[in-house]
Amino acid sequence: MNLTQAAAALKKYFGYDQFRPLQSDIIQTVYNGRDTLVLMPTGGGKSVCFQIPAITLDGVTVVVSPLIALMKDQVEALSANGIPAAFINSSLSTDQQRNVETALLAGYLKLLYVSPEKLVSQSFQPLLKRLKISLFAIDEAHCISSWGHDFRPEYTQLKFLKNQFPGVPLIALTATADKLTRKDIIDQLGLANPAVFIASFDRPNISLTVRPGQKRFEQIVEFLKEHPNQSGIIYCLSRKGCEGLAEKLNSKGFRAAHYHAEVPPAQRSKVQEDFINDRTPIICATIAFGMGIDKSNVRFVVHYNLPRNLEGYYQEIGRAGRDGLNSDALLFFSYADLISYREMIEQGEASAEQKDLKLAKLERMYQFAEAPVCRRKTVLNYFGEPYDKSCGNCDVCKNPPQHFDGTTAAQKALSAITRTGQRVGMSLLVDILRGSQRREIMEHKYHEIKTYGAGKEHGYDEWLFLLSQMLHVGLIEIAYDDHNCLRVTDEGKRILFEGKKVSLAMPQPKQKPGEKTAIPRVAEKSKTQLMREELLARLMALRRDLAVQQGIPPYTLFSDLTLQQMADSRPLSDAEMLEIEGVSERKLQLYGDAFMGAIRQFVLEKTQAGERVTGSTHFISYDLFKRGHLVEEIAELRGISTLTVMGHLATMYERGELIDLGQWVSPEECDIIQGALPLFEEPYQLKVIHEHFGERFNFDKIRFAIADYRRNQ
Ligand code: ADP
Ligand code: ZN
Repeated sequence: MNLTQAAAALKKYFGYDQFRPLQSDIIQTVYNGRDTLVLMPTGGGKSVCFQIPAITLDGVTVVVSPLIALMKDQVEALSANGIPAAFINSSLSTDQQRNVETALLAGYLKLLYVSPEKLVSQSFQPLLKRLKISLFAIDEAHCISSWGHDFRPEYTQLKFLKNQFPGVPLIALTATADKLTRKDIIDQLGLANPAVFIASFDRPNISLTVRPGQKRFEQIVEFLKEHPNQSGIIYCLSRKGCEGLAEKLNSKGFRAAHYHAEVPPAQRSKVQEDFINDRTPIICATIAFGMGIDKSNVRFVVHYNLPRNLEGYYQEIGRAGRDGLNSDALLFFSYADLISYREMIEQGEASAEQKDLKLAKLERMYQFAEAPVCRRKTVLNYFGEPYDKSCGNCDVCKNPPQHFDGTTAAQKALSAITRTGQRVGMSLLVDILRGSQRREIMEHKYHEIKTYGAGKEHGYDEWLFLLSQMLHVGLIEIAYDDHNCLRVTDEGKRILFEGKKVSLAMPQPKQKPGEKTAIPRVAEKSKTQLMREELLARLMALRRDLAVQQGIPPYTLFSDLTLQQMADSRPLSDAEMLEIEGVSERKLQLYGDAFMGAIRQFVLEKTQAGERVTGSTHFISYDLFKRGHLVEEIAELRGISTLTVMGHLATMYERGELIDLGQWVSPEECDIIQGALPLFEEPYQLKVIHEHFGERFNFDKIRFAIADYRRNQ
């Protein structure tokens, strides 16, 4: 088996033109029969690494996967592309399982997904021994490690695969990168000298933003308004938090549901199904949600609370944008979150050593949120991947902080803290500095202190940003044991009383809502953009209707990326449709006509309404031609010359459409003209060739002979 065959299978069954970096190397290694360990981020394209060998090699590939829901999704997605696959797990009835076994023994299946419990069970061994197995693929291989967060005891028994089937290559895949887990996987599976592939963990299409958690509900509402009709997950710390947030969002007119471990199983699956099928766009969930979800068009992940560590954060945001389209990760953080986690860890069951580790990881998480440094740089460096540029797609890069002499600002804050008797928390302090009329301020007569209203030059968020830095550099501290009141440290006193200077970072001022209109840069959407959006909306609606009919999730029918490409290039022929990423041969057969029908309808409507649909003009001519119009009639109808129409038809023929050329040029004439073409250079000049043959062949003959020549090259 070789990579050319692998690439052909990728195109035929998945509709992709090329492998991503590493995918082809990995597949080659599998072809060489060597064991392989693959570390790739979520959405990186791990599945292809074993699915292509499975399709191209003789026999069946056995895929071990810990999540029943995911198995079902993968098998459905494979079947939709015409790849014979099935799964065996506890959800199957005896009859269903027998059917799968029959198909297996008949050599009909290329992939078998199986739960680890099933695979290691005694009852499964006789069947396993009778199969011709091409490859073992261990998905979510980090489940083998008791160090990891998803430990699955059955995984530790998988060593028998290498013992019992020494000749069958094994590929282990995971999105967890750390060294300890890696070593565990290799040891426990008994891999001898495996090839290890570590992909970049960067997910450049996910935009990273971190914001202080004040008024986070309002902030979320704003954010959701900017992301209408998009799917996303909002992670909350507690069950109550999930429920409360979903309820509040619904009362604001958003469609949201909640999900956590205490929700009854039936309702949990319903929430999940509704999300996957684009019926409920927003899920407010604890981190229990997401593991078994393969939905490629999750457009945003919001963390309502600070995650416990960067590993968790990165895994959770990784659920966004698997289709490669731009997506958002928005994280809110606050001291309150930090404190509750600290308490949870300290009061937890773990050993002192484990607790320290957890606390240290929490600390790193908090620093990540607070430091005005490129987010991607911070997080990739944390995972041990050198990244020394600035990413340009995070809040810090987009809005880089300027440093300024923060002494005066710091003094105002420190003075206000002192004058209130160190009795105020962060939010109240900011309100005092900004001269708010808040009830607590009046009650405690804080409006009578000298620094009341002395900080109006900074907005609320700016003050929070400044105060968090003051905390960070040790000018103030928080009395966690006393209502989180702020205290001035000795270092702070030096700034306040001894005139010591401090430099602080200031975020560039945010644009205020009213200012937008004054800025001419905010370009109106162009006609082309509007047209594209209109078509995209129609294609999405069509996808939804078809998916409902078929009972499959919309994104498995075609991904968002595929629909966007269709809206961009408006394919109207089989050949053009196949050029779109994600259109496999099977999907072209199943859905090609429906989507081309919608596009054709759209183009014709627009043309009739007198709008110019660029790039589609030859399709319109061809469309009329296919409906039985003569070339002259088409020219008449469209107000163009017959020569132009012939040019359109030739182009369509060249691109692979079936047009009978016999009416314009005979095979013999075609041969003669094509025989002379090597004498000339692209782009061919009809006139020159016409003269070369002493005007023996008319332009149409030459034109079609050239089209035929190009088509066959
Ligand atoms: P992972 O299992 O690593 O999370 P997937 O295997 O689900 O990732 O792949 C993520 C997405 O990328 C899927 O939509 C998949 O079809 C797509 N994909 C994988 N390989 C390619 C490729 N070579 N070209 C284009 N898209 C790809
Ligand atoms: Zn950045």
